[in-house]
Formats: sequence, structure tokens, C-alpha cells
Amino acid sequence: MKVLVPVKRVVDYNVKVRVKSDGSGVDIANVKMSMNPFDEIAVEEATRLKEAGAATEVVAVSCGVTQCQETLRTAMAIGADRGILVETDVELQPLAVAKLLKALADKEQPQLIILGKQAIDDDCNQTGQMLAALLGWPQATFASKVTVEGGKATVTREVDGGLETLALQLPAVVTTDLRLNEPRYVTLPNIMKAKKKPLETVKPADLGVDVAPRLKTLKVSEPPKRSAGITVPDAATLVAKLKNEAKVI
Ligand code: AMP
Repeated sequence: MKVLVPVKRVVDYNVKVRVKSDGSGVDIANVKMSMNPFDEIAVEEATRLKEAGAATEVVAVSCGVTQCQETLRTAMAIGADRGILVETDVELQPLAVAKLLKALADKEQPQLIILGKQAIDDDCNQTGQMLAALLGWPQATFASKVTVEGGKATVTREVDGGLETLALQLPAVVTTDLRLNEPRYVTLPNIMKAKKKPLETVKPADLGVDVAPRLKTLKVSEPPKRSAGITVPDAATLVAKLKNEAKVI
């Protein structure tokens, strides 16, 4: 079973992002970039499936600028066997990424595609769902447990009311939630080994996909600053304030 794992290069989760003064977006010049944390979980899960004998090959895919190669090398240091870079300078929106991944899935014929549930830069939470729809494959989003056996995946997913368990016929699309696993620490020998693993580069046009943005960003602005809280002496004062000042009860 081949597993495809899309990995996105995003601003590192430790960085406090700043909005550009002209409101056109977020300033990413000289900012540390890393693999989207949910995608690290996806690569870890695919690697564990391979180590357990359920998968035979793990292929990492990243769509974006040349530097996404670094993200793919990290995926290969965790355990992916090879990487594919779909190289473009165009700002990619979820539908464009889903179309690129669909074209790659048609070519590579994976049995399982494991994505992150969302990218922490745009927080879209759309790509996996769009990809499953384009492929016509079953999907299980927000997975906290995945087992694969006899052409079927059993996925436990986190829903508002608790946990839900789904059985999916492969091929299928799964997206990862935070509690699925704890990604391993990437060791230096594995970083060195990853440098020798195959990395193929293709362009969106090679896959026959038009990646031009469909949505226009009108303005990006900082959220309003939160004002300091106050301490109330007792519950009665709190209730009075909620009733008379905040007017929420
Ligand atoms: P989003 O829908 O943007 O929140 O992204 C959800 C997931 O889709 C991510 O966690 C990745 O697994 C995948 N993805 C999104 N954008 C890209 C990209 N440019 N390259 C590779 N994978 C991506």
C-alpha cells in the first residue's frame, strides 16, 4: 500500500506574525518557516504504518516555492521514502492544492492520502475534504486513531460530542488531529540519509492544473487588542455585571 502525504511549508508556530502595513497580508520576510504541525503528525502516522508492515511506500508532496524542498527533506528525515515538489510561485489556495493532489493521486495511485486537518497559516481546513470530493473517495477528517487492515481503514475521529469511529473502503482520504500521535524527534543521521532520498520536481502545468487564485484577499488586519480583565469580589457582583454591563444574561 502506497501512502501519499501532502506537507505544507508554513510560518513556524512559535513566530508571532505581523500584518504588513499596507494590509495586503502577513509579513513573512526573514521569518522562520517549518512544516505545518498537523502534517508532521501525518508523516509520522504514515511512517508508523510502514514500520508496522501495513504500508510499503510513503511519498511526501509539497506544493509551493523552491524552499518547500526543505519541508520535503524533513518529511524524508521522519520516514518518507521520497518527495515530490510541485513548484510554483503562485499563491496557492486550497482548491488549487486539491486539484494538484488529485492529479498526483491519479498518477501515483496511492491507497491512502493522509493530510493535516488544517494549515496553521490560513486555518482553512478545506484541502482534504476538497481532495476527497474531487477523487470521489471516502474521507475521515480529524483522526485521532487510524488502523489499516484488509483493504479497509478504521478511523476514530474527534467530534463535538466525543469520539466517532468510521470504517472506510480504501482508497481513502484521512486528515490528522493533534492527538493522533506524537511525531518522533528527527535525528542527525536521518537528516543525512534524507539528503540522499529521491526528490522529483514537477510544475502545475505538467499536471494539467490551472492554479490561478479564485479568491481575492481584500484586506488583512490585526484582531482588536483585548482589554485587561477585572477581578470581582463575589458571584453576585459578577452576575450583576453580566446582566447590567455586558448584557449577556
Ligand atoms: P488547509 O485546507 O489549507 O487548512 O490545509 C489542510 C492540509 O492540506 C494541510 O495540513 C496539508 O496536509 C495540505 N496542504 C495544504 N496546502 C498544501 C500545500 N501547499 N502543499 C502540500 N500540502 C498542502
